[in-house]
Amino acid sequence: MSGSNKPPLIWLNIFIFLSSFIVALVLVPWYGLSSGYGVEHLVWFLIAFSFCNLSITAGYHRLWSHKTYEAHWSLRILFALGGAFALQNSALHWSSDHRIHHKHVDNNDKDPYSAKRGFWFSHIGWMLREYNANTYSDYANCRDLQKDKIVMWQHKYYVPLAIVTNFGIPLLLGVIYGDIIGMLLVVGVLRLVLSHHSTFFINSLAHIWGSQPYTDKNTARDNAVLAVFTFGEGYHNYHHIFENDYRNGIYWWQYDPTKWLIKSCSWLGLTNKLRVTPKIKIEKAKAKQALATASKNISKLPNASLLNETLNKEFEALMARMADYYDVKKQVLEAKKNDLAIKYEKSLLKLRYQQMKQDLAEQRKSWESLVAQYA
Ligand SMILES: [Zn+2]
Ligand SMILES: [Zn+2]
Repeated sequence: MSGSNKPPLIWLNIFIFLSSFIVALVLVPWYGLSSGYGVEHLVWFLIAFSFCNLSITAGYHRLWSHKTYEAHWSLRILFALGGAFALQNSALHWSSDHRIHHKHVDNNDKDPYSAKRGFWFSHIGWMLREYNANTYSDYANCRDLQKDKIVMWQHKYYVPLAIVTNFGIPLLLGVIYGDIIGMLLVVGVLRLVLSHHSTFFINSLAHIWGSQPYTDKNTARDNAVLAVFTFGEGYHNYHHIFENDYRNGIYWWQYDPTKWLIKSCSWLGLTNKLRVTPKIKIEKAKAKQALATASKNISKLPNASLLNETLNKEFEALMARMADYYDVKKQVLEAKKNDLAIKYEKSLLKLRYQQMKQDLAEQRKSWESLVAQYA
């Protein structure tokens, strides 16, 4: 097969990815063995790595691509600088790609890094050739971002910003600590390579490896291991169904430092209007997915139609209980807000709420034990 009908190669990208990878693989350990690294190398590596990745996850991804919250200009400047340091193109360009990815996920002709084209393509291959040259005439899907002065400033000066951060920061540290080569290798190159590939894993591995608790309509997966390396972005199945949520890991025990950063900044007044998906929607999506999986597995059994009937009845009962519960919960919250004058009505409402809560818990339990048999 010849490559003649493939788009032309992007030599600059190939050079950057390949040379940085080889340096990280060969020169970084070689220099470490011959000259040694100190604590300062490790500390600044971690700071620079976190700065880059959080600028991408909290800035490029959850702020600019998905508008899941609003951020103070000082924070946006930091994200713009960190994004250039991460060398992942401008926030405008990145967001444009990413919005297409969500809109046309898994569509091999439209999704710029469609996972259905394989691991290599979705990981890095999509950046090595001019696959998407025609989508950047005007960034039409990012009109809102074009009103953000910081986004446009970063877009205009992306190349000088990328050069200044990638060479300037390691050089400065090198001068301070008296080891220019060591800092260039660790904070410059190793940090860049690891930051690149950990981000790229979201497009590749997070669409291949993991569970699908919310939907199997696309390839996105939830993966706790990946979440550790990607500052919380491993909960990608949740993210693809509820992309407007500022969280990816929605439970307290899920590792999502990007969420923690955004939330902590809200206490300082640096972020606001954090968007979350209503609980009922999340619970419904999860139940629907469990229903789909169970029905599929039941269809292979001899007494399928009878089992399916039971399953659907249980599902309907769960949906009804859920609707009741969340409805009365809303009433309770409203009553609290309006401070209902009539105590009697308030206590009645509370009683009903407790009852609904218990009913839903029981229904959930019976549902979960049922679908567990056919999971
Ligand atoms: Zn996204
Ligand atoms: Zn994705």
